[in-house]
Amino acid sequence: MDDSYVDDALIDAEAAFQETRGQTGESDLNVSEAALVQLRKACRLLEAARTLREQNGYYTVVIEASFVAVERSIQFYLLQRGHASSEDLRYEHTAVYQQAGEVNLFSETFADRLMQLWKQNRAEVYYRETVASAEQADAMLSLAEAVHQYILDFTSLTHECVCCQKSR
Ligand SMILES: [Zn+2]
Repeated sequence: MDDSYVDDALIDAEAAFQETRGQTGESDLNVSEAALVQLRKACRLLEAARTLREQNGYYTVVIEASFVAVERSIQFYLLQRGHASSEDLRYEHTAVYQQAGEVNLFSETFADRLMQLWKQNRAEVYYRETVASAEQADAMLSLAEAVHQYILDFTSLTHECVCCQKSR
């Protein structure tokens, strides 16, 4: 790939992340508070997942986006309540569930179940050739919306949510 058109594309991508002045930012993410950035990322992921779900067939992406939305919503909670700092967010995926269990957002059993679900999805995506289903996509999107809504209610910060279509 070196010295080919791929190399040129890599140079452009590197530059896009190095020199960000004058670039077009994603809407709704221009908030200064670290916690709110995570919340808004969750909102945007949910919105993207809903948009893709409306079109038949993007189950894998919907499932992936839903898992990340769950993580972002929880990270928002941890930051908002001062249980984590921005540096702490370089978590392993499963660590965020564990930490939320430790601070009693939910029980450690619930955290384990979320972790198992994540691991099972990972294993199926990477190690088996299982095809994601419409049912799994629907269930994961509903779970991600429920976690998002619960945390918003729990923190009384529903007004900070920018989801167009509220789950409930
Ligand atoms: Zn939202």
